[in-house]
Amino acid sequence: MNARFGGPAKYKAWDRQKSKCAGCGLELRMFIMEGRTLLVHPIIPFKEGGDKTASNCVILCMIPPNNCHLKIGHGGREDSEPCRISMSDLPYLNG
Ligand SMILES: [Zn+2]
Ligand SMILES: [Zn+2]
Repeated sequence: MNARFGGPAKYKAWDRQKSKCAGCGLELRMFIMEGRTLLVHPIIPFKEGGDKTASNCVILCMIPPNNCHLKIGHGGREDSEPCRISMSDLPYLNG
């Protein structure tokens, strides 16, 4: 299984979040311009049946100190699988 979001879903999520991190609201545009990678995550992991549409797609920062990718996407553990994300952890889901 190809467990990745396609371009259109990612851009839709980016627009919906108004280029902010869904977890902490950090403006992410400048990081893109610096060529850094952002983390695109499923809200419901693909393994648990999450789909590849924009509504299951969330963009998180991976910049200290917030590092929402690690904190929210992986429950704070470097080595863990992506976890199911609770909506209450995504206050900036719509920008
Ligand atoms: Zn963040
Ligand atoms: Zn991840």
